[in-house]
Amino acid sequence: MFEDKITQYAKETHTYTLECPYCGKNTLVVNETMYNLPRLGEVLLISKNCSSCGYKHNDMIPLKKKRRRRIYIKVENKEDLKTKILRTSMTRIEIPEIGAEMVPGIIAPFFVTNIEGVLQRFLDILSTMNLLEVSEKKDNLSIITKKIEQMMIGKIPFTVIIDDPWGIGGIYEKSRKTLVITEYVE
Ligand SMILES: [Zn+2]
Repeated sequence: MFEDKITQYAKETHTYTLECPYCGKNTLVVNETMYNLPRLGEVLLISKNCSSCGYKHNDMIPLKKKRRRRIYIKVENKEDLKTKILRTSMTRIEIPEIGAEMVPGIIAPFFVTNIEGVLQRFLDILSTMNLLEVSEKKDNLSIITKKIEQMMIGKIPFTVIIDDPWGIGGIYEKSRKTLVITEYVE
Protein backbone atom coordinates (compact mmCIF):
# COMPACT_ATOMS: atom_id res chain seq x y z
CA MET A 1 0.00 0.00 0.00
CA PHE A 2 2.69 2.45 1.04
CA GLU A 3 4.96 1.18 -1.73
CA ASP A 4 2.31 1.68 -4.39
CA LYS A 5 1.78 5.23 -3.28
CA ILE A 6 5.41 6.32 -3.18
CA THR A 7 5.83 6.50 -6.97
CA GLN A 8 3.92 9.80 -6.96
CA TYR A 9 6.69 11.35 -4.85
CA ALA A 10 9.48 10.38 -7.22
CA LYS A 11 11.54 13.36 -8.33
CA GLU A 12 14.22 11.97 -10.59
CA THR A 13 15.60 8.63 -11.70
CA HIS A 14 19.00 7.52 -12.93
CA THR A 15 19.61 4.11 -14.44
CA TYR A 16 22.93 2.54 -15.26
CA THR A 17 24.48 -0.90 -15.72
CA LEU A 18 27.31 -2.40 -13.67
CA GLU A 19 29.17 -5.67 -13.31
CA CYS A 20 27.22 -8.01 -11.05
CA PRO A 21 29.12 -8.86 -7.81
CA TYR A 22 27.64 -12.37 -7.91
CA CYS A 23 27.89 -13.66 -11.47
CA GLY A 24 30.43 -11.19 -12.89
CA LYS A 25 28.35 -10.36 -15.98
CA ASN A 26 27.66 -6.79 -17.02
CA THR A 27 23.95 -7.16 -16.49
CA LEU A 28 23.40 -5.51 -13.14
CA VAL A 29 20.90 -2.72 -13.69
CA VAL A 30 21.05 -0.05 -11.00
CA ASN A 31 18.14 2.28 -10.62
CA GLU A 32 18.47 5.33 -8.39
CA THR A 33 15.33 7.26 -7.65
CA MET A 34 15.05 10.31 -5.49
CA TYR A 35 11.85 10.71 -3.52
CA ASN A 36 10.53 13.53 -1.46
CA LEU A 37 8.31 11.65 0.96
CA PRO A 38 5.89 13.08 3.51
CA ARG A 39 7.18 12.42 7.06
CA LEU A 40 10.48 11.09 5.78
CA GLY A 41 11.83 13.92 3.66
CA GLU A 42 14.25 13.31 0.82
CA VAL A 43 15.40 9.74 0.39
CA LEU A 44 17.30 7.96 -2.34
CA LEU A 45 16.14 4.48 -3.28
CA ILE A 46 18.72 2.31 -4.98
CA SER A 47 17.49 -0.91 -6.53
CA LYS A 48 19.85 -3.39 -8.14
CA ASN A 49 18.66 -6.16 -10.40
CA CYS A 50 20.73 -8.71 -12.31
CA SER A 51 18.97 -10.28 -15.29
CA SER A 52 21.58 -13.06 -15.56
CA CYS A 53 21.61 -14.54 -12.08
CA GLY A 54 18.54 -12.96 -10.48
CA TYR A 55 20.45 -11.04 -7.79
CA LYS A 56 18.25 -8.33 -6.32
CA HIS A 57 18.90 -5.70 -3.72
CA ASN A 58 17.19 -2.56 -2.49
CA ASP A 59 18.68 0.18 -0.39
CA MET A 60 17.28 3.33 0.97
CA ILE A 61 19.43 6.28 1.99
CA PRO A 62 17.94 9.31 3.71
CA LEU A 63 19.56 12.44 2.33
CA LYS A 64 19.02 14.37 5.50
CA LYS A 65 20.85 12.46 8.16
CA LYS A 66 18.71 11.63 11.15
CA ARG A 67 19.69 10.14 14.46
CA ARG A 68 19.24 6.53 15.55
CA ARG A 69 15.82 6.03 17.06
CA ARG A 70 14.61 3.32 19.42
CA ILE A 71 10.90 3.19 20.18
CA TYR A 72 9.23 1.10 22.85
CA ILE A 73 5.51 0.48 22.43
CA LYS A 74 3.48 -0.95 25.28
CA VAL A 75 0.78 -3.15 23.82
CA GLU A 76 -1.95 -3.39 26.42
CA ASN A 77 -5.03 -4.60 24.59
CA LYS A 78 -6.42 -5.95 21.35
CA GLU A 79 -6.91 -2.46 19.94
CA ASP A 80 -3.18 -1.72 20.27
CA LEU A 81 -2.45 -4.54 17.83
CA LYS A 82 -3.79 -2.24 15.12
CA THR A 83 -0.96 0.26 15.66
CA LYS A 84 0.78 0.66 12.33
CA ILE A 85 4.53 0.49 12.03
CA LEU A 86 6.62 1.87 9.21
CA ARG A 87 9.49 -0.46 8.53
CA THR A 88 12.46 0.31 6.32
CA SER A 89 15.23 -1.98 5.13
CA MET A 90 17.20 -0.82 8.19
CA THR A 91 14.54 -1.35 10.86
CA ARG A 92 14.79 -4.05 13.49
CA ILE A 93 11.63 -5.12 15.33
CA GLU A 94 11.88 -6.94 18.61
CA ILE A 95 9.43 -8.51 21.07
CA PRO A 96 11.50 -9.32 24.18
CA GLU A 97 8.70 -11.24 25.95
CA ILE A 98 8.96 -14.03 23.39
CA GLY A 99 12.61 -13.50 22.52
CA ALA A 100 11.70 -12.75 18.91
CA GLU A 101 13.45 -10.40 16.56
CA MET A 102 12.85 -9.39 12.96
CA VAL A 103 16.10 -8.33 11.40
CA PRO A 104 16.51 -5.82 8.57
CA GLY A 105 17.35 -6.81 5.04
CA ILE A 106 13.97 -7.36 3.48
CA ILE A 107 13.51 -6.94 -0.27
CA ALA A 108 11.01 -4.09 0.03
CA PRO A 109 12.62 -0.79 0.97
CA PHE A 110 9.59 0.33 3.00
CA PHE A 111 6.51 -1.26 4.25
CA VAL A 112 3.72 -0.55 6.65
CA THR A 113 2.51 -3.36 8.86
CA ASN A 114 0.51 -3.46 12.06
CA ILE A 115 1.57 -5.17 15.28
CA GLU A 116 -0.84 -8.02 14.61
CA GLY A 117 0.97 -8.56 11.29
CA VAL A 118 4.31 -8.74 13.09
CA LEU A 119 2.95 -11.39 15.48
CA GLN A 120 1.46 -13.32 12.56
CA ARG A 121 4.85 -13.32 10.87
CA PHE A 122 6.44 -14.83 13.99
CA LEU A 123 3.69 -17.46 14.14
CA ASP A 124 4.36 -18.41 10.50
CA ILE A 125 8.08 -18.76 11.22
CA LEU A 126 7.35 -20.92 14.28
CA SER A 127 5.06 -23.25 12.37
CA THR A 128 7.77 -23.76 9.73
CA MET A 129 10.29 -24.47 12.50
CA ASN A 130 7.87 -26.91 14.08
CA LEU A 131 7.89 -28.98 10.90
CA LEU A 132 11.66 -29.12 10.85
CA GLU A 133 12.68 -29.43 14.51
CA VAL A 134 13.17 -32.67 16.40
CA SER A 135 10.56 -33.61 18.99
CA GLU A 136 12.37 -32.32 22.17
CA LYS A 137 12.31 -28.79 20.84
CA LYS A 138 8.68 -28.97 19.76
CA ASP A 139 7.44 -28.46 23.35
CA ASN A 140 9.27 -25.16 23.53
CA LEU A 141 7.93 -24.04 20.18
CA SER A 142 4.38 -24.84 21.15
CA ILE A 143 4.73 -22.86 24.41
CA ILE A 144 5.84 -19.79 22.45
CA THR A 145 3.15 -20.37 19.82
CA LYS A 146 0.46 -20.46 22.55
CA LYS A 147 1.86 -17.29 24.08
CA ILE A 148 1.73 -15.45 20.74
CA GLU A 149 -1.84 -16.66 20.19
CA GLN A 150 -2.78 -15.15 23.57
CA MET A 151 -1.02 -11.91 22.62
CA MET A 152 -2.99 -11.79 19.38
CA ILE A 153 -6.28 -11.74 21.24
CA GLY A 154 -5.02 -9.10 23.66
CA LYS A 155 -4.75 -11.40 26.69
CA ILE A 156 -1.04 -10.87 27.35
CA PRO A 157 0.49 -7.36 27.34
CA PHE A 158 3.89 -7.05 25.69
CA THR A 159 6.47 -4.63 24.35
CA VAL A 160 7.39 -3.93 20.76
CA ILE A 161 10.80 -2.37 20.22
CA ILE A 162 11.50 -0.62 16.94
CA ASP A 163 15.13 0.20 16.32
CA ASP A 164 16.24 2.17 13.29
CA PRO A 165 19.78 3.51 12.83
CA TRP A 166 18.51 5.95 10.16
CA GLY A 167 15.80 7.26 12.47
CA ILE A 168 13.08 6.67 9.88
CA GLY A 169 11.27 3.49 10.91
CA GLY A 170 8.70 4.00 13.63
CA ILE A 171 5.05 4.47 14.34
CA TYR A 172 2.97 5.23 11.27
CA GLU A 173 -0.39 5.37 12.98
CA LYS A 174 -1.31 4.97 16.65
CA SER A 175 -4.15 2.71 17.74
CA ARG A 176 -5.23 5.29 20.33
CA LYS A 177 -4.00 8.63 21.65
CA THR A 178 -3.03 7.23 25.04
CA LEU A 179 -0.82 4.46 23.68
CA VAL A 180 2.31 4.27 25.84
CA ILE A 181 5.39 5.03 23.75
CA THR A 182 8.91 5.72 24.93
CA GLU A 183 11.36 7.09 22.45
CA TYR A 184 15.14 7.36 22.61
CA VAL A 185 17.14 9.32 20.08
CA GLU A 186 20.89 8.84 20.07
ZN1 LIG B 1 24.36 -11.54 -11.65
